[in-house]
Amino acid sequence: TRRGLHGSLRRFEAGMEEALKERHALEVDLRRALDEDEIVPFYQPLIALDGDRLIGFEVLARWQHPTRGLIPPAAFIPLAEEIGRIGELFDKLLVRACSDARSWPSDLRLSVNISPTQFAEPQMASRILDILAKENFAPARLELEITENALVDEVSSARLILTTLRNVGVSVALDDFGTGYSSLRHLSDLPVDRLKIDRGFVESARLNEEGWRIVRAIVQLAGTFDLATTAEGIEAPEILSTLRELGCDIGQGYLFGKPISAEQTSLWLLGRPL
Ligand code: C2E
Ligand code: CA
Ligand code: CA
Ligand code: CA
Repeated sequence: TRRGLHGSLRRFEAGMEEALKERHALEVDLRRALDEDEIVPFYQPLIALDGDRLIGFEVLARWQHPTRGLIPPAAFIPLAEEIGRIGELFDKLLVRACSDARSWPSDLRLSVNISPTQFAEPQMASRILDILAKENFAPARLELEITENALVDEVSSARLILTTLRNVGVSVALDDFGTGYSSLRHLSDLPVDRLKIDRGFVESARLNEEGWRIVRAIVQLAGTFDLATTAEGIEAPEILSTLRELGCDIGQGYLFGKPISAEQTSLWLLGRPL
């Protein structure tokens, strides 16, 4: 078995080397993609649940790779964070989204995901405000979605940056609410307007009563703190009607629409009754 152990060590090493090579290749490719603007915003509708009004879109990054096709954010956002280029990617997506939104109804809002690592940059607030001014996009039409679980290191700078932005009308949503480590603490630590109920909870609400209790508890918690709620991952009509009964404000999910390109979004808007 000594030989067996040796053999598996060799295989392990070979596997590691392979993984490192792949990561390096991906990194080179990503740097090129950022320079060539291959990463673009897709848009997923946000719907007010008292009726069927379109409120706006969540901006979701997609890499339109010349040979590999459409690459989802999970495959490149963590690497963009690691190589220190997530701020630049955010800026580019925001500029592009503001410019896409120019041909859409002027009351539509944009929700953009912000990576916790971006809070390490003190200039973040002014960079965002510069972009909004340049693109002539009203700050009140922008919402930032922040993920709570990785915020822990940066809470004080996050608070400062978010407060600056909120003072001019930008709003803040806590994304993936309930999945992090200190979600309840952030409710009092950070300036927040909205809780986004994680897709996992909404999905399990379809399967069991326990799931519903969690969703209901989050909506009630939001009410206690005067916060609005968005439920993501709505796929089934029966989930939608129960979320309405619970008083959840905004819904998002495949039932209303999947994330689509700017061009597809313009067409979708044309086909949608006012
Ligand atoms: P998220 O912010 O929680 O975004 C919601 C994800 O759920 C999106 O996945 C969306 O396509 C998916 N989704 C929405 N409705 C449904 C549904 O009804 N069913 C199912 N199965 N899925 C649904 P996506 O686009 O793959 O994004 C994954 C994550 O990547 C996002 O999760 C967000 O954390 C991150 N991300 C995406 N774009 C950006 C970005 O520009 N910057 C940063 N920092 N993160 C981003
Ligand atoms: Ca989000
Ligand atoms: Ca989410
Ligand atoms: Ca998520």
